[in-house]
Amino acid sequence: MKAAIFTIGTEITDGQITDRNSQWMSEQLTDFGVDVLLHVSIPDDKKQIVDFLNATAESFDLLVFSGGLGPTSDDLTRFAIADYLKLPLVMHEPSWNYIFQRLSSRGITIREEHKAQAMIFKNAIALSNSAGSAPGIQLEQSGKIFFLLPGPPVELQAIWNNHIAPFFKSKNIQNNQKLKKWMCTGIVESELAHITDTYFANKSYVIKTGFRIHKPNVEAKVWYCEAPEVDLEFKNFEKLIAQYLISGSTV
Ligand code: ATP
Ligand code: MG
Repeated sequence: MKAAIFTIGTEITDGQITDRNSQWMSEQLTDFGVDVLLHVSIPDDKKQIVDFLNATAESFDLLVFSGGLGPTSDDLTRFAIADYLKLPLVMHEPSWNYIFQRLSSRGITIREEHKAQAMIFKNAIALSNSAGSAPGIQLEQSGKIFFLLPGPPVELQAIWNNHIAPFFKSKNIQNNQKLKKWMCTGIVESELAHITDTYFANKSYVIKTGFRIHKPNVEAKVWYCEAPEVDLEFKNFEKLIAQYLISGSTV
């Protein structure tokens, strides 16, 4: 499954804030066996969002958006995607009830603009937001999956953990792609990579290897397909790196 992540917000493109959502979601998606191939940050500009989608969306099965789901005039993501997909937006009453209660209980004056946060595409699923107002939106359209998520990381991650992670678990994308990680210390990245790549060279169950420095540690990763010899071969690999190994985990 090929994915693109679009982070929407002029505050990202003009340098006021650093985009943290792409990094976080990419890490999560990669662990689920999704290939994230593109990160794009786009200002709060409906035409630019639609233009970018027209230019890039065809290449992807999964399109994830963060930001621009709020009630203010610069929150345009849902309207841009409605234009792009030529889908009407409809009021999702349970979401509106939730938003109404949440704002009222905080003494916030309810305005017409707040209703935009409860508008979702026809046939879409509203993903409840336990950390904020606007629900996320999940839509399957023309063989593609769209997720729209609020920009604040705490909200995005709450929706992700409650809805999107279970969605990917149930999809079982990992059926044919699993990931094993080993955290090591006292070894440089290039050396760990050499040992790992030499050991796993020509193993037919290995899809790819990867390495990352988590100072002061180094992590080795192997994406692989299930095979009868895997358990024993991983144990033998762990003997090779035993003096450096802190922990190992399978995702
Ligand atoms: P809100 O209802 O809070 O406005 P929203 O979905 O409209 O939510 P934005 O207006 O795009 O989100 O962003 C709100 C805030 O969330 C930003 O000011 C920033 O603090 C944070 N934020 C947005 N996008 C990102 C991102 N990609 N990485 C990190 N923080 C972000
Ligand atoms: Mg906003």
